[in-house]
Amino acid sequence: MSPSHKSSIRVRFAPSPTGHLHIGGLRAAIFNWLFARHHGGSFLLRIEDTDIERSKEEYTDSILSSLSWAGIDFDEPLVIQSHRLAEHQKLIAQLLLEGKAYYCFCSQEEVEQRWAAAGHDPAFVKYDGRCRVDQSRVGSGQPAAVRFSIPDDVREIKFDDLIRGTITVDRDQLDDFIIARSDGYPMYNFVVVADDADSRISHIIRGEDHISNTPKQILLYRAFGYNIPFFAHLPMVLGQSGQRLSKRDAATSVLDYKHNGYLPEALCNYLVRLGWAHGDQEIFTKEELITLFSLDAVNKKSAVFDPEKLNWVNSTYIKQTSPERLFQLMVRDIDPLLAGQLKGWTATQVYAAVDLYKDRVATLADMVAKLCVLHDGPKDFNQHDMEQWVTAQTGDHLKEVITAFEALPSFDADVVQATLKELSKKLGIKLVAIAQPLRIALIGNSDGPGVFGLLSVVGRTEAARRIKLLLSQITIQ
Ligand code: GLU
Repeated sequence: MSPSHKSSIRVRFAPSPTGHLHIGGLRAAIFNWLFARHHGGSFLLRIEDTDIERSKEEYTDSILSSLSWAGIDFDEPLVIQSHRLAEHQKLIAQLLLEGKAYYCFCSQEEVEQRWAAAGHDPAFVKYDGRCRVDQSRVGSGQPAAVRFSIPDDVREIKFDDLIRGTITVDRDQLDDFIIARSDGYPMYNFVVVADDADSRISHIIRGEDHISNTPKQILLYRAFGYNIPFFAHLPMVLGQSGQRLSKRDAATSVLDYKHNGYLPEALCNYLVRLGWAHGDQEIFTKEELITLFSLDAVNKKSAVFDPEKLNWVNSTYIKQTSPERLFQLMVRDIDPLLAGQLKGWTATQVYAAVDLYKDRVATLADMVAKLCVLHDGPKDFNQHDMEQWVTAQTGDHLKEVITAFEALPSFDADVVQATLKELSKKLGIKLVAIAQPLRIALIGNSDGPGVFGLLSVVGRTEAARRIKLLLSQITIQ
């Protein structure tokens, strides 16, 4: 189905700035971006702010920053739909002049009343065409909307959706829809066609909630004599409940994922797999995605958002990323004051600590919390772990540990490890019998990275302070 001239491929992402960018929107942006990059085409961004009551500049800024965070770049200057108002109004005037649209003076109330009076189902109100026939009020100065006049010979609208196959909509399901409100502002279905045609968009890839708009848009393309683009409607992202993804299921805003410590490349990788597959491969580099992406492999069925799988993908990316970059991301996306919170640690200590935890966390927010505990020392000791690992002899063992540490020439992890191994042999106990109480002393519980690494990051003096604190607790007990 894809056209043969690769360079003519032009796609766009057209969010409305009525809220922050959500997961489904980011997925649509990524699919468009991948499609453009795969075909060597162009990817454009248009902010659809025609809904003046609900559109806010702060949301435009937030959408732009979310896209940039996700690593999505654009090939042409941003189009702000409202800046094209004069052009839109010119095109509406053209349709009126050509008799392809007409002024409508009926209020919504009147339309609904007539519909109900004719005995129709009030849940599916359609315009009865009154002003198409009766133009007596034109020129009266009364406010009027503009309706598109569906040509009489249209029986059905048919289009080949690149994902869903042929879609046919009967004329009965359509009415003469409004293309401009009575205050002169054009409506979504009109502006989207005007702008997509102006930008020479070849493929419209968007959520399937827009399928019902497509026949109206096709009618407008025909009315203007524009080339009709290809359409590809992406399946919805559902929550675990099977309903459209909502805040009840998971965070829906991309910014929340940023602040909760998801790596942009991990979130993008997860979202691409949500409804697209290449065998059973789960983890892809950006380059692989660009090479492999095709609309043919997009699933027709809705995809269910699975936060656990996202965590698995994120943890996989965290494991593969250098401590230096992970730390930069934590400062940039989660806590700009993190370096201050880890005051007193050298860069080597910070990166060593990140390295200790990068195989053990699902998100960078988890990592930040763990780093702070390792840096500050535990607020309390886990009682269950204390009962399990602290015995009557532990106090004596820990005193021996402090003495052994004092005598060491250096406090590197391998030196610490050799010393503790030797000490446990000398005391006739298993290594774990001192390793676990030491872990509890250092981070408050017995579940954590290797104790030798923890000790060497914390340093000899601080380790001794924490061990003594635990000793004081044991004495109290
Ligand atoms: N502005 C529309 C939205 O945010 C998208 C329009 C389109 O992709 O055609 O849902």
